[in-house]
Amino acid sequence: MTDMDYDWDAIIIGGGPAGSTVARYAAEGGAKVLVIDRRKQIGTPLQCGELVPTNSELKRLCPDVPEIDQLFQTPEEAISRRTNEMGLVTPSGKRLNYPFEGKILYRPKHDEELVKLAKKAGAEYLTESRVNDIVENTVILGNGKELTSKIIVGCGGPHDPLRKKFWEEKSLNIAVNFVLMDGEFDNRVDLYFGSTAPGGYAWMIPKKGGANIGIGIQTRFSKGKSLNKMAEEFFSNFEGEITYKGGGVLPMSGTIQDFTKGNYMLVGDSVGMVLPSNGAGITTAMIGGRIAGQVIAENIMKNTSLEEYQKRWNLQMGKVMKYSKRGIKWGGLMFRSPDMLVNAAFNPMTKPLIWRAITCRPMFGIY
Ligand SMILES: Cc1cc2nc3c(=O)[nH]c(=O)nc-3n(C[C@H](O)[C@H](O)[C@H](O)COP(=O)(O)OP(=O)(O)OC[C@H]3O[C@@H](n4cnc5c(N)ncnc54)[C@H](O)[C@@H]3O)c2cc1C
Repeated sequence: MTDMDYDWDAIIIGGGPAGSTVARYAAEGGAKVLVIDRRKQIGTPLQCGELVPTNSELKRLCPDVPEIDQLFQTPEEAISRRTNEMGLVTPSGKRLNYPFEGKILYRPKHDEELVKLAKKAGAEYLTESRVNDIVENTVILGNGKELTSKIIVGCGGPHDPLRKKFWEEKSLNIAVNFVLMDGEFDNRVDLYFGSTAPGGYAWMIPKKGGANIGIGIQTRFSKGKSLNKMAEEFFSNFEGEITYKGGGVLPMSGTIQDFTKGNYMLVGDSVGMVLPSNGAGITTAMIGGRIAGQVIAENIMKNTSLEEYQKRWNLQMGKVMKYSKRGIKWGGLMFRSPDMLVNAAFNPMTKPLIWRAITCRPMFGIY
């Protein structure tokens, strides 16, 4: 088959932040792109804590990523609330507060806007269509329909079918439960550590008129308690009416070894772009998505190798990911420590070090 014989230059499995951003930039660069998603409405149902850093905070956190304002154009109607502070809370309730500029999203709206940007650039979408299999350059849908493409991109999240079939490397995925609660909440994001969320995270993220409250754990650290049980206990600490219950899976081991295999590429959660030390995955999926989309377009137009994608990712996000993985290693020690030690470890002396670990910077200031 020549390149001309394929139905598409690139088929993208999944139209979340990763897939829609790949589509936006690949189409903008001249590639003929199709996004396939099993959902009827991309972004719905909500499976997220909905917190992202503001663009100015992102510029500080990811200094090697260029043109942040061009990539992140969240419209006001996709933002529920803004915050300027984050608290890190120990099991005894001790809190360390830090300045942090965050946007709390209406995530379904946010993802719909990304679809609009991709469509505007020329990408096409096929929704309510599950990708069941991939054989060489052919994508096979649940209804048996077959579509061919030069490049196939797995943006299907932690259970992406391309990753599952062609990559052997495993990632640590943690199960997460969350709720939306009506009520009055402080205008500060709180992240909870230690036995509150063994081996994972818990959060209270204030929204307009309520909060997004969630918890993810590793049951091997939870002394026999199930996620549902721990979630019930955690949610009962807050006063308000639960209006929505959701769940999902968060990859927590960082990026895997290889992002591409021949003409297959993985972007977003499917390749482990969530920063393990803080759970941020929306912005990282979009940073990876922009690079992958640009490289796809260059591949179609001037035969640039798809391996450029991982090289450019490493230039832009390599250090951030490295320090995030290192941060979670230190955190891992904490997961296994008694609460008494965790409480003691959170003190004015360690305060800057803890923040550096969470925000993916070298803990002792050395590169
Ligand atoms: C409960 C929870 C809370 C989170 N909170 C935050 C947070 O506060 N801030 C943050 O930055 N990140 C958060 N994350 C992580 C963030 O949601 C992800 O990192 C982000 O969504 C990754 O984007 P993605 O495009 O890779 O995957 P997804 O957003 O998961 O998109 C994958 C898409 O692929 C589609 N798909 C999957 N399989 C197939 C298939 N076989 N065929 C067709 N379509 C398919 C799905 O329908 C979906 O639309 C949270 C995650 C969870 C689970």
